Amino acid sequence: MPVAMEWVAGGALGATLALVTTPIWSWLFRRTPEGDRWERREAPLPELARDLAGSYGGYAMVLTRSHKVVYTTAQAETLPVYEGTKLIHSGLLELAENAWNEDEMQSRRLSFTDLGPVADAEVRATRLADSYILLTVTDLTQTMRARQIRHDFIANIGHELRTPVTAVELIGSALEAGAEDPEMVRHFARRLSQESHRLARLTEDMMALAKAQDQDSSRFGEVNVLDVIQEAAGRHRTTSEEASIGVRVQASPGLTVFGDKEALVTAIDNLVANAVAYSPPGSEVLVSATLKSGEVAIAVVDQGIGIEAPDQERVFERFYRTDQARSRRTGGTGLGLAIVRNTVSGHGGRVTVQSEVGRGSAFTVWLPRRILGDSA
Ligand code: ADP
Repeated sequence: MPVAMEWVAGGALGATLALVTTPIWSWLFRRTPEGDRWERREAPLPELARDLAGSYGGYAMVLTRSHKVVYTTAQAETLPVYEGTKLIHSGLLELAENAWNEDEMQSRRLSFTDLGPVADAEVRATRLADSYILLTVTDLTQTMRARQIRHDFIANIGHELRTPVTAVELIGSALEAGAEDPEMVRHFARRLSQESHRLARLTEDMMALAKAQDQDSSRFGEVNVLDVIQEAAGRHRTTSEEASIGVRVQASPGLTVFGDKEALVTAIDNLVANAVAYSPPGSEVLVSATLKSGEVAIAVVDQGIGIEAPDQERVFERFYRTDQARSRRTGGTGLGLAIVRNTVSGHGGRVTVQSEVGRGSAFTVWLPRRILGDSA
């Protein structure tokens, strides 16, 4: 073949090869963003991977082998775990890496201080064929918090029960030992009755709290507010008279709310009980109901010992008392205000407190007003 022909054939072959290989090359590889080398292109994200991640209601993302995030659910987008398009969270990366290397679903319970709203989570990583890793984060923060609250509550109940139960045991032994002495028997019988009363109150309050936390709105109906405050105040007539404390009731006419009358009476009853218990003889407690900015405001105002500012929010916590010894003397269970708060929030309302040490306290229950003709 003449040299010229060979040149032409060689050129044609080269051009054909270039024509065929260039698209293949650029299909498989591309320049790095820095432009200094070629990197393998990732296969396009298959619909299935996207659907899989998308159908996962919470936090889910799809990563490439090189930890580039190619898909996130709207929720996962808010996690502070990316730098540009790269996943940078070490805990998540480690799990993703394990899933890739083991080619097996990896699952781990992790606690985070840096995942924004997610404090506890179950994280799962799954390798999707040869190109991707699916990462899901199941938020367990609320579950863990609820578990902690339940745990603390049971521990608190144990602690609260231990005191009267131990007292009853000791009194029993003392009674036995002093059975011949009528004065001793009378003394210990009185103590026994006090401790049984405390146990009964604790049981009643625990049941009232459980009911307040799980309010049955099917029992709701139209409730006359004056009836509620009169009944609640009336339950303390004897105790307040014994302590020389005046309890006055005042209400704007015709106020009604939508709710469970018995539960509302119990809530206001707790506020009046505290007002009487933490007030000096000769003072007055005012229980009033008015309409304020469209809401029904039931206020229980006393001239008692008051509550220090840092305690004012904490008194609504279960078993929180500002003064253990005093609360024990007054026969308090430490659950009264927790019952109030739960009952009121179950009625779409709230409870607030204003107080000054040495001057008195005002607890106000705010409830939505029931307008005539409102339906449940
Ligand atoms: P308790 O059964 O101990 O009264 P509560 O939940 O009703 O429990 O109240 C929690 C704590 O809040 C009380 O122990 C007391 O320290 C404080 N407290 C509640 N109401 C008043 C009040 N009217 N005046 C002063 N302190 C109050």
